[in-house]
Amino acid sequence: MGPVSMQSRASRYRPPANDPSKEPMTPFVQATVPLDGTALAGVVAADESFSTETAPVYNPAHRTQVVGRVAVADASVVDAVVRIAESAGRGWGALTMGERAVWLRRAADAVGLGGEERARLLTLEQGKVLWESQVDVGGAAHLLRYYADLVETHEDEQLVEDARGTTITLRKPIGVTTIIVPWNYPIYLCFMGLAPALAAGNPVIVKPSELAPLALTDALSRVASALPPGVLSVVPGDGETGSALVRHPRVRKVVFTGGTQTGRSVLRDAAEHITSVSLELGGNDPAIVLESARIDDELIREIRRSVYTCAGQVCFNIKRIYVARPRYAEFMSRFRDAVDEIRVGDGQDPRSTIGPLNNARQFESVSRLHRTTVDAGATVDILGRAVDGTGWDDGYFLRPMIASNIAPDAPLVTQEQFGPIVPVLPFDDEDQAVAWANDSEFGLAASVWSADIPHALSVARTIDAGSVFVNSHRIGSTDQTMPFGGMKQSGLGRNHGMWAIDECSELQAIAHRPDTSVFPGPR
Ligand code: NDP
Repeated sequence: MGPVSMQSRASRYRPPANDPSKEPMTPFVQATVPLDGTALAGVVAADESFSTETAPVYNPAHRTQVVGRVAVADASVVDAVVRIAESAGRGWGALTMGERAVWLRRAADAVGLGGEERARLLTLEQGKVLWESQVDVGGAAHLLRYYADLVETHEDEQLVEDARGTTITLRKPIGVTTIIVPWNYPIYLCFMGLAPALAAGNPVIVKPSELAPLALTDALSRVASALPPGVLSVVPGDGETGSALVRHPRVRKVVFTGGTQTGRSVLRDAAEHITSVSLELGGNDPAIVLESARIDDELIREIRRSVYTCAGQVCFNIKRIYVARPRYAEFMSRFRDAVDEIRVGDGQDPRSTIGPLNNARQFESVSRLHRTTVDAGATVDILGRAVDGTGWDDGYFLRPMIASNIAPDAPLVTQEQFGPIVPVLPFDDEDQAVAWANDSEFGLAASVWSADIPHALSVARTIDAGSVFVNSHRIGSTDQTMPFGGMKQSGLGRNHGMWAIDECSELQAIAHRPDTSVFPGPR
């Protein structure tokens, strides 16, 4: 084989100046089906033009208070919207990366407006405290801008010329992409899939959770109106709606975030048309506090935050803690004191440090795990305090809990609790801690806590999880420079950065090799 020369086509993707008033010239095919795409994108309350059922969205802090209504789309709506997306996708996919980057920045500017109001709406429907809603809401513009910058400079095509001829390797949009979103961090998690999918040239259809659809739909309707018509749609609905989207033969990619049980069902549905699937599922993240850890205020606060953020309803919160036996008593004493400072209340009340659980199913599931743990003879400390005792029974409130004297195979240790209760177990040696950490069907994230960083890093390598953090374990511990996703039953595929672009594009090879004598083949 002769010398290989590689050259990039990046120079051909010279981005246009970032002037939002200067729209790229590529013509878009407008949808002609008898449905109003704008109404679909913006549907929040019962919309007259949307002839379908609606369902109430309740405030988890005051269970009977209706925050808004959401439409429930059926299979015929799903089919119409998929066809709108497919048409719009032709023009969108034909743009250069640089041209799409301009649109993404326009969308970021659009979704950056109204953030405060959107965060308040999110707290009303989701339950979490306002500052957490602000973080969630702020993620939308940040992620759109991040992917605009990333793809603008991305070399998306390689040309290899050698003695045999020319080979071009390029990435193409995968096609109509459906993003199915859970209720805990609806905006950030949606945009984690949406921004790279759009950047890669795909038209996108989002299915929010019916338990927290309002703030997300508001954010998406702003993005949709800043993009060419039909490139982004929202199909509100329930699990049936989600399933209809996954089973649609013209949907080519599903980005699903949610529980493992639902993930299995999505995989089965996607098998029907061999649809590509990325899954971000549940986790049962271990934290291992080594004997060499510095158990000071900072470590205790970090671990408290990593357990109780969003009342424990984050996929990669710490869900079980293993502490070296010689440090166990000291850790427990300080951890109990710190957790006792938590104040539980309505997320709108600035005195609350955590809000209620989001829904009845989650409340009952965590309460059941609590009861099972106590019935099995473990100790459960119920700590913290209600901000305001009035109305406590009206919301899905639970005080923060710590379980001790608990068996390593107890349900609270082996299952994902997704709530404000955590088991803390002593371990005798590191091998035992790592074996317990790895003895799980999940493998989303984990953490190792130690003042001896080289040693902590070496322990981190032995843990079977998609992300392992040293001396931290929370939102902010990971970012777009690190791949994110789970091993084992915590998921399929990786998000963040270019890994996310790769997940929602197809690799194509084009070859011109005139000399076929190397492989004679059958004569
Ligand atoms: P679910 O799995 O119940 O729901 C997730 C989404 O899927 C919702 O929009 C839901 O709609 C929809 N859905 C339900 N059934 C189907 C179906 N058959 N086909 C297609 N879509 C369907 O998860 P939750 O919303 O209850 O979220 C909690 C779980 O999500 C936890 O287990 C948590 O660990 C996991 N999670 C994982 C994350 C990660 O990054 N790995 C991040 C956040 C959560 P609807 O709600 O309207 O029924």
